[in-house]
Amino acid sequence: MNDCVRALHAIQARIAAAERRYHRPPGAVALLAVSKAHSIADVRAVLAAGQRVFGESYLQEAAAKIAALAGQAVDWHFIGPIQSNKTRGIAERFSWVHSVDRLKIAQRLDAQRPDHLPPLNICLEINVSGESSKSGVPPAEAADLARELSLLPRLRLRGLMAIPPPSRDLETQRDPFRRLRELRDTLGQAVPALDTLSMGMTDDLEAAIAEGSTMVRVGSGIFGRRGA
Ligand SMILES: *Cc1c(COP(=O)(O)O)cnc(C)c1O
Repeated sequence: MNDCVRALHAIQARIAAAERRYHRPPGAVALLAVSKAHSIADVRAVLAAGQRVFGESYLQEAAAKIAALAGQAVDWHFIGPIQSNKTRGIAERFSWVHSVDRLKIAQRLDAQRPDHLPPLNICLEINVSGESSKSGVPPAEAADLARELSLLPRLRLRGLMAIPPPSRDLETQRDPFRRLRELRDTLGQAVPALDTLSMGMTDDLEAAIAEGSTMVRVGSGIFGRRGA
């Protein structure tokens, strides 16, 4: 068996174990396989093993993979930083964007989302940990951005995403995830249908699942360390 496929099964087992341990319903947590910096051959192997949802961070690299796998049922999620001149390429190719943190970017994605495609699913990236991360909306500004974004007809606001600083300790890992969940609960009173918490990566997915993650984004845990 391909190494990535073996690793995929191990990650699926970790997710299932965390769901049981933290009293989440089975299947409550979706797996986004983050294939950035990894080959199309590895993506094909993981796809053949039944994984249908993939995350990419760089448009150019993603576009090549998406073209190579055209015709296969793959759901592509954009999770990287977004420059204005990349919004059209993203709006045309992806079904989700997890990393929206400015109204201007949201407006461009809305205007450029092709009519023949369903609305683009959006998560707001939140800077839950303050100065340690350069991208993301400050929590205090999230409600205004969510309200404005929810008026854009070609976008569908689904929830929140965060990338907290790495930590080895489970309790320390849980803290920013808890704050993201609480922010989602608060915003959910003004903007309905916030059903998504995109949080948890290879090294902290258990902490994220404990705090209510609905989608973990796993790269190295499936594809190996980048460049390896
Ligand atoms: C690369 C990346 C991931 C995956 O991280 P791993 O630690 O390799 O699992 C998840 N989310 C984002 C936004 C990323 O850029």
